[in-house]
Amino acid sequence: MGRLLIVSNRLPVSTKVEHGKLSVVPSAGGLATGLKGPHEESGGLWIGWPGDTSRLDKGQIEGLERELLDLRAVPCYLSPGEVRAYYDGVSNGFLWPLFHYLLDKIPYSTSEWDAYRQVNERFATLTANHYRPGDTVWVHDYQLALVPSLLREMIPEARIGFFLHIPFPATEVFRIFPWREELLLGLLGADLVGFHTLSYARHFGNSLIHILGLTPDVDRVRSGGRTVRFGAYPMGIDFITFDRLARTESVRAEVARLRYENQDLRLLLGVDRLDYTKGIPRRLLSIERLLQKHPELRGRVRLIQVAVPSREHVDEYESFTSEVNGLVGRINGAFGTATSTPVHYLHQSVSQKDLLALYAATDVMLVTPLRDGMNLVAKEFVAARTDEDGVLVLSEFAGAAAEMAGALLVNPYNVDAIADATRVALLLPEQERRARMRAMRQRIEQFDVHRWARTFLGDLRQENDPGSREAGVRMDREVRSQLLERVARAHEVLLLLDYDGTLTPYTRRPDLASPDKDLLDLLASLSGSARARVHIISGRSRGTLESWLGQLPIGLHAEHGLWSRPVGGEWALCRPVDASWKQKVLEILGLCVERTPGSMIEEKSFSLAWHYRMCDPEFAEWQARELKLHLTHALSNVPVAVLSGDKVVEVQPHGVNKGLVAAALCGAHPGALAIAAGDDETDEHLFAALPEGAISIHVGSRASRAHHNIRDTVAMRRFLMALASSL
Ligand code: UDP
Repeated sequence: MGRLLIVSNRLPVSTKVEHGKLSVVPSAGGLATGLKGPHEESGGLWIGWPGDTSRLDKGQIEGLERELLDLRAVPCYLSPGEVRAYYDGVSNGFLWPLFHYLLDKIPYSTSEWDAYRQVNERFATLTANHYRPGDTVWVHDYQLALVPSLLREMIPEARIGFFLHIPFPATEVFRIFPWREELLLGLLGADLVGFHTLSYARHFGNSLIHILGLTPDVDRVRSGGRTVRFGAYPMGIDFITFDRLARTESVRAEVARLRYENQDLRLLLGVDRLDYTKGIPRRLLSIERLLQKHPELRGRVRLIQVAVPSREHVDEYESFTSEVNGLVGRINGAFGTATSTPVHYLHQSVSQKDLLALYAATDVMLVTPLRDGMNLVAKEFVAARTDEDGVLVLSEFAGAAAEMAGALLVNPYNVDAIADATRVALLLPEQERRARMRAMRQRIEQFDVHRWARTFLGDLRQENDPGSREAGVRMDREVRSQLLERVARAHEVLLLLDYDGTLTPYTRRPDLASPDKDLLDLLASLSGSARARVHIISGRSRGTLESWLGQLPIGLHAEHGLWSRPVGGEWALCRPVDASWKQKVLEILGLCVERTPGSMIEEKSFSLAWHYRMCDPEFAEWQARELKLHLTHALSNVPVAVLSGDKVVEVQPHGVNKGLVAAALCGAHPGALAIAAGDDETDEHLFAALPEGAISIHVGSRASRAHHNIRDTVAMRRFLMALASSL
């Protein structure tokens, strides 16, 4: 099946130097546990930063590399400056707060994006250097968002997955990011992009629509001539290990000790990295509120808050630490007695045994992050409750909330609501506590971290387009020179070109897309060759084509081929048509314009078009679907066809399409080498009508029957310029 190459910011190891001797210890985080099996079984590699190595001498570095080799880990070294810019700066300073909706934590400006890009390039190059055909690459998290596309450029055929471990925010928040397009395009280099929840996947899809102008389906999108799938893969924990450890004698003894020392108290527990996303200040305020509102609970409840030191180099974290210290002091000052304190604050990390004992001994677990991609603490608490007791109060803004039906969900911004939920949790009858806990344990046991990794990798290894035709051949330098050689040998070349989206980019209004001087010169130069016949086949009206291109010695075909004007000739209808349906359709489109701000009608002689490029893309796509259904129904007895173009719905006489013109022109020039180019659905008729041996080029990234694929109008023009020279 090929090896699994895992790429993440940190290698799952920690290094320690004691008395000059370096030791490397594998870490037991959730990700490392989940991926250990597939990584080792496949003989794969894990590529990542080994931590700060700036103080290690040459011998120590060699020792480190030997140990990493044994662990099948490949170090990506970063200088302290790179770590500051790429990791502390862009990743944790900007992306982290933004993706957690904490906009006031975003710095005023950052000049560190170049460093982020460079480090991503380094990771991608290192991965490419270790890649062997048949390998699967799985890239992790927001620090490495550009790696999928960078790697795709280096190894076009690689199978690449990406998983985001933090939330993907709503488009209105994501679009704040100054390099939003680049980041999305970075992710689209993958074959499969995974998120913890469906709502993150939906937000990602919406950003593709609003920011890149793509039109994703529910779980996939066409981009760069490829299909990229995306979806929800909620990460689990290693349930069996937690469950087993919680049953060991040493943990049980620790639970008994905790219970004894707090015997007259109900225990509340919080376990978090000391991070401003975790909602610790509001959780503390909710304890204050609880004790203010319910004096009978004073001296009867205790919150044990474990706050694991985290990211102490990032400025925002320093002031946050003193804020939390201040709140703990205030509450203990107000509600403590000579013998007890309501908040036990542990600013330290705790051992796994102590953590499990805390989980197992507590009455109520408070997990109230303001936002959290998933939150594994909530799941670990459930796994540790082998007694099937204990209540989980859980933020509705944690990814885990989508799975934990037995939790009491709270809005973590609402201090009163947390206080109330905590009280409800304390009063919950045993039977209900057990019913809730059992349901959660079942879920967490079934959907553990091993299943998460298996499901993601299983989906990643599936074909993205089973059964459908392959995307066109990318027009790289080699392909281009092969085509140009054929052109050089041809005695006659027939160029059949669409206009909008092929020769010029789309503009906000259709009337703004007039040809620039470069394009006019290019068309003049092409048509100047004695061997070339140039035809523009467009959905535009006669008037527009005439005024924009009428002076050139080229064939013009308007309204998708309904009208044609041969070189030096007059406009003529391709056949008699009926236009009695137009009034009815105008009325329907008029209603659509009223409902969809920014949309407009274009009226042509025998066709009508509803344009929606300037509208809210989500709403307009939905309106376009509705409109097509409605028109098809309303016009079922009328000989017209309803076509979809790029941000346009058109109604025109039945049986008229670009294919008719193409067939007629190719028939009139037997033996000529036909080259056709177009970008939207209406051009598919053009491609279908070409004779064998013709060259068809799709401009853009949609699925197409064209044999070749060119990125955009700029690349298309470049190709035509090369063609003009070889003519
Ligand atoms: N944890 C830890 N040391 C501690 C306390 C907790 O390593 O002293 C672990 C905890 O068991 C959990 C992880 O830290 O696996 C926190 O993961 P979570 O998804 O809740 O939050 P994150 O820190 O990833 O934002």
